[in-house]
Amino acid sequence: MALKVRVMASHGPMRKGAMPALVYRAEAYEETDRFREPQWGCSHNHDSVEDAFNCGLSWLHAQSDDSAAETA
Ligand SMILES: [Zn+2]
Repeated sequence: MALKVRVMASHGPMRKGAMPALVYRAEAYEETDRFREPQWGCSHNHDSVEDAFNCGLSWLHAQSDDSAAETA
């Protein structure tokens, strides 16, 4: 099973009189899933795409610690 990381943008909490800022969350989905249903999603509100992506990558690395199949 090969997981991929993607970043989803959404609006942050609404504040009166202010535009809600965009927040970013990392999601992991299975590469072979045609619907790309998220298998995992981080629960943070990242300020940037890069932050969220790095968050997703570190989660991914934590998952693949004991898989030797990735090193083909
Ligand atoms: Zn995160």
